[in-house]
Amino acid sequence: MRRSDGEFALFSSILTQIEKKIEARRGSFRFRPYAIVKLYSHTRMTERTFNFYSGPATLPTPVLEQARAEMLSFNGTGIGIMELSHRSDEFMGVLRSAEQRLLNLLRIPENYHVLFLQGGASLQFSMVPMNFLAGGLADYILTGTWSEKASIRAAEFGTVNVVSSSKAAGYNRIPSSDELRFTPGAQYVHYVSNETIDGVEFPYDLEAEGLPMVCDASSNILSKPIDIEKYSMIYAGAQKNIGPSGVTVVIIKDDLLESGRGRQHGVLSYAAFANNGSMPNTPNTWGIYIIDLVCAWLEEQGGVAAIAEVNRRKADLLYSAIDNSDGFYTGTAEPGARSRMNVTFRLPSEELDAAFCREAQTKGLIGLKGHRSVGGVRASIYNAFPLEGVERLAEFMSDFAGRDRT
Ligand code: PMP
Repeated sequence: MRRSDGEFALFSSILTQIEKKIEARRGSFRFRPYAIVKLYSHTRMTERTFNFYSGPATLPTPVLEQARAEMLSFNGTGIGIMELSHRSDEFMGVLRSAEQRLLNLLRIPENYHVLFLQGGASLQFSMVPMNFLAGGLADYILTGTWSEKASIRAAEFGTVNVVSSSKAAGYNRIPSSDELRFTPGAQYVHYVSNETIDGVEFPYDLEAEGLPMVCDASSNILSKPIDIEKYSMIYAGAQKNIGPSGVTVVIIKDDLLESGRGRQHGVLSYAAFANNGSMPNTPNTWGIYIIDLVCAWLEEQGGVAAIAEVNRRKADLLYSAIDNSDGFYTGTAEPGARSRMNVTFRLPSEELDAAFCREAQTKGLIGLKGHRSVGGVRASIYNAFPLEGVERLAEFMSDFAGRDRT
């Protein structure tokens, strides 16, 4: 039987206590009779399960290994990465490197800034209207839970015009661009490119007829190439495709930035972040460091276009498992709106949804329960989620469906 990490942690700490007692009795005794057993338990503890959580989500193992080493001493400084001053040359180098890698990976032109903020994507729901709406009108496209939340926050600062909403249909579709009529003179248009809870994703970069386009790309940034020039601003909480929680990447075009200048100050002002190299106050140094490592890892995978191919294969495997199940599994999104990042589906009953997730967990497939507001099953398969884990889930789906029918 496979031991849980918790059991191995306990086992390992008991062995450490025994070793300490032996050492206390024997003075400088160096031979460690339990070291081999401990090494074994440690190896087992570092075995990685397949983590389908929607965010914080799985990170590339080599990134975690490097971070583990640099937790104690970054780049030979004798100071751990989390202990370094944000104004030190070493950390400034990390921040510049993370910024540069994002510029390269997403082919961001010179008239944009890459900024690192805090407060999650949720703070952006308020900060965008605070900086750019200011009593005016903005168009919001509602395709799921997160775009709806963003529109509610914006209504506190001006007029929100809902251009399109699929709420009545259960947020299961994405409008085509010719269904959308924007308001001439709107301050901006806002949409969410991938709805993490509802499992729908825009299959195209939306254009807003010359209006500034603001996009929450928290759950699909860096997962496929995008035409950045169609956007005035993209924001993304890092904890799905870019790094850990606690840091938000903002990519913002200079003219939008200038249009909001002076409306807000300090950490509520994009201009303050742009003027101070993302440091109007102490940034999330650890988060930015991990972003740098994740971007370096992505470069090694061949960049955004290469990972997009892998993401397509992974999503196809799961959607095929759904479509070939003779109706046992039902995808919640319309086929044309299916997310490549969050695959959402249901079984014939809520009891079966629960049984499926429970049994999957015993097979090392963790975090499949759908969001509490919608239920069902959700497999989040961001960039760092391995193909092998998706193959394991597809096999499990076919096995589970076969057994339930017999
Ligand atoms: N937008 C999207 C698309 C999300 O998936 C999430 C979180 N899952 C948020 C916004 C909110 O992010 P946070 O909790 O970091 O504020």
